[in-house]
Amino acid sequence: MKLISKECPKCGANLKFKVGEHEVHCEKCRRDFVIEYDDNVDLKNIANEISSEGVRLVNSFSGHINENMKMFRTIFIIVFAVVIVAFIGIFVLGIINAQRINSEFDQEWKRANTSIQGNF
Ligand SMILES: [Zn+2]
Repeated sequence: MKLISKECPKCGANLKFKVGEHEVHCEKCRRDFVIEYDDNVDLKNIANEISSEGVRLVNSFSGHINENMKMFRTIFIIVFAVVIVAFIGIFVLGIINAQRINSEFDQEWKRANTSIQGNF
């Protein structure tokens, strides 16, 4: 896999990441960074190991990702999943309920019919 190596903007440690990745974690200072690539570089057409070209490829690290932001994102995903599951649950319950009402109506209808026939 094509790797890029670049200095951590906070502590100067060596950061290694794959071409195309958008987040990198620094093991030394335990910060996460957003990777911004140079728009002029076609990432799909890069050959070989390009550790020395890291400076050319990567425009900048746009600050470290806020831990709160990461937590917010995780919470958002969880809430989103719960809402989806709830909607599916309501939908399924609705179908089951509709089928139950339908079969009750059928039984009622049959009973009504037989009682009418019995009267004649
Ligand atoms: Zn660092």
